Amino acid sequence: MNSGTLYIVATPIGNLEDITFRAVRILKEVDLIAAEDTRHSRKLLSHYGIARPLTSYFDHNKNIKGSYLLERLAEGTSVALISDAGTPCISDPGYQLVRDAVAAGIAVVPIPGPSAAVTALSAAGLPTDSFTFLGFLPNRQGKRRERLAGLAGEGRVLIFYESPRRLLATLADLRDTCGDREVVVARELTKVYEEFVRGCLTEVIELLQNREIRGEVVILVAPATEENTADIASSAALLRRYLLAGSLSLKDAVARVVRETGLPRGEVYAEALRLKESQHDQ
Ligand code: SAM
Repeated sequence: MNSGTLYIVATPIGNLEDITFRAVRILKEVDLIAAEDTRHSRKLLSHYGIARPLTSYFDHNKNIKGSYLLERLAEGTSVALISDAGTPCISDPGYQLVRDAVAAGIAVVPIPGPSAAVTALSAAGLPTDSFTFLGFLPNRQGKRRERLAGLAGEGRVLIFYESPRRLLATLADLRDTCGDREVVVARELTKVYEEFVRGCLTEVIELLQNREIRGEVVILVAPATEENTADIASSAALLRRYLLAGSLSLKDAVARVVRETGLPRGEVYAEALRLKESQHDQ
């Protein structure tokens, strides 16, 4: 028996018109649609008159549901995977199903469409030749700063997904760890209140801090340059001297560099963690 095809179908990230003719046709033709949230997707499906059987596939049932879907695919059922918004598998469930389907010899066909990261990048006005998509940062500030400190020297545009609640805290962490560089906050893309807030991190924080930030956001950060990492480089050189000499603890080395450079403690601390991490990696 021929196995069915697994279609990975991109759906709108806000504006219902942002779906391709092909996506609508495939969703009308498949035997089964696996959706991250069936209630949420019903709105889109009924808007386009799509009435195919629907089942759920989300983070917490992905193992059991994944096995079920693979069995059905093996029997010849065609399945379309959709997520709540944008492209499945991109900061959304699906990767494991795709990997298992490929391993089982099942055809996996992408049906392209929007993804918030690329949509934001296309109109951000930042370099587009190379970029690094990092999905969501850790919720906890310590881990988040550590991750960001490790990215401070990255010569490509950085793209993050973030919740509106954490936006200001993340922008402040970015400024502390990566220097006051250019940033774009893309909010509510393709929706009524679509907005791009552009400027250096300090300006954007000032613009946003007295507002209630609602909706969905993407953060895009300009690449590291010698200019915007000069402060970080000088604190790194001092830290290296004090830490690697082995005479000072991390805390004391950070305190000394803060005294000598006048740089924010958070920034110096994040740099110290990054140095320690790179020592471990050697
Ligand atoms: N699979 C989706 C994609 O392809 O973009 C991403 C899903 S992820 C769970 C949801 C995050 O994507 C949001 O928290 C936000 O950071 C970003 N996002 C999704 N839709 C957006 C929109 N219309 N405007 C801005 N950001 C959006």
